[in-house]
Amino acid sequence: MAVAKATWIRAWAAVMLLMLFVPGALAESSPPVVHFTLGSSTQGRVIEGVRIGSGPRKLALIGNTHGGPEANTYELVKQLATYFEAHPGDVPAGIRLDIVPTINPDGLALGTRQNANGVDLNRNMDTSADSCPENDWQHVVEGAYGIVSPTGGPYPESEVESRIVRDFLLDANAVVFFHSNAGVVFPACDHQPSITLAKIFADGAHYSFIPKWNKYAITGGMHDWAGGLGIAAITPELVTGDQPEYEQNLGGVQALLKVGAPLLPSPQEHREGGLPVQPVIWRAWKTWGAQALFGQPLEPPRRTADGWSQLFERARFEYRPAQSDSTSVVQLALLGRDSVGRAAPAVSADPNARFFSETGHNLAAPFADYWQTNGGLPMFGLPLTEAETSAESDPPRLRQVFERGVLEQGSNGHIALLPLGRQLWAQGDMHTPTSGVQAR
Ligand SMILES: [Zn+2]
Repeated sequence: MAVAKATWIRAWAAVMLLMLFVPGALAESSPPVVHFTLGSSTQGRVIEGVRIGSGPRKLALIGNTHGGPEANTYELVKQLATYFEAHPGDVPAGIRLDIVPTINPDGLALGTRQNANGVDLNRNMDTSADSCPENDWQHVVEGAYGIVSPTGGPYPESEVESRIVRDFLLDANAVVFFHSNAGVVFPACDHQPSITLAKIFADGAHYSFIPKWNKYAITGGMHDWAGGLGIAAITPELVTGDQPEYEQNLGGVQALLKVGAPLLPSPQEHREGGLPVQPVIWRAWKTWGAQALFGQPLEPPRRTADGWSQLFERARFEYRPAQSDSTSVVQLALLGRDSVGRAAPAVSADPNARFFSETGHNLAAPFADYWQTNGGLPMFGLPLTEAETSAESDPPRLRQVFERGVLEQGSNGHIALLPLGRQLWAQGDMHTPTSGVQAR
């Protein structure tokens, strides 16, 4: 009995330690107001924001998805940022408020609803993870006034702006996407935490709550993408097309802050292949390509010096809470680089290939499409070799090493990440945790 009790106390102490360190890590070191940059638009305009507060739950306000025609939402979110910068004490201790006035600066500058590639960013997300198949991504999309247009993009999350939203929100608890001008507030499809927040916001802003947008189908919408990953997401549509409606929306945001952290849902643990997956890492795995790209987890998540890490068959995912104000809060580990060490300079330059002067290598033509459509540079990193025929496989296969993985072309032309995670796991050096506490 004494032994069992001691074990129980140790387990309890470990849990308390985790509770102390995990949510507090950001809070202890962060000043209340931080300006940040998330990346650049298609035409190279900076996408930036400000974070107010340093609590563990991230509530994001995102304006101006629809560029010029909805410039009033840009004005609104800018004014909200100014207000909360001047009144950081309005953000409760449990929350940090991340405010991004525009994620479509090209559309804003060009006066278009779409981005500079002619893609509607609110039709470009992969919405297949939620329980509403009718909203799944389509190339041809519906819009106001019965307009049907091929503006969903060539594939889900084809646009750099969509990928910025996706990667920035991986660790979010809740998000508000401001649009105009239908005068309603609606939640992510069939997602109860989103429904609850939409009602609270609508009450605070004196807008009308509707449970579902029903004028036309919104396919590939940001709110439904978020809801599918367990992020509470709401879309307020301002009443007018030209006024920021600042007082109303400040009331809506204040209402969300007042109900506070308890209603901002935490990322949930999921089990895949019989193993628990760290909640934020699960979102990245799920939305970046899941089983098809990365395979199944091989181990439970493990604690690292700066966050969490988890090994999958074809990649290792790393989650660093301190990088929350960026698009790299989750990244693939540098398994490709580790597998070859520093690569030698390029021997030849293919005039048709994209050349990276940083490493002196080309993005080899057979891998270029796969590399680009599955996330490009942030996902796979720079090429460290040219495409080479591997002698290790029989028949020999074409391979190219990138910083975060190795791409290989199968005999049927099919391209996949080499199972470097499985190789590491088989070598056994990943089996025993080297530091810290292993997660459940
Ligand atoms: Zn809109």
